[in-house]
Amino acid sequence: MPYSYDTENIFAKILRGEIPNDTVLDTEHSLAFNDIRPQAPIHVLVIPKGAYVSYDDFASNASDAEILDYTRAIAKVCEMKGVAADGFRMISNAGAHGVQEVPHLHVHILGGRGLGRMLERG
Ligand code: AMP
Repeated sequence: MPYSYDTENIFAKILRGEIPNDTVLDTEHSLAFNDIRPQAPIHVLVIPKGAYVSYDDFASNASDAEILDYTRAIAKVCEMKGVAADGFRMISNAGAHGVQEVPHLHVHILGGRGLGRMLERG
């Protein structure tokens, strides 16, 4: 069972305009903003505006329009940030094993430098 959706999570508050964000892209169904604690020169979070906890929740339950908008928003962010040529990493943490801190779906787009291997051993 994935985390349940908590309407008081920080990204829900961003979507309601209750706390500020550094917006990169705002579309009908998606919002992209810079991570507050960047781990690479480029570190953008892309979230759907709907209340989805994780990627599998979104992929199973979102409408076609939401999925299309979200997928294209991710591509647009990559284009805007110019990461396609040199490469980037897209991560979406889910649940306890994924060490998901915020229970609203987000993908991290990381780039701007070599990022090393995908996972530390351990
Ligand atoms: P995760 O561990 O995948 O849930 O990552 C949550 C991410 O959200 C972390 O990289 C945080 O730095 C980021 N974060 C938390 N609060 C904010 C905020 N108010 N604005 C932007 N990014 C945030």
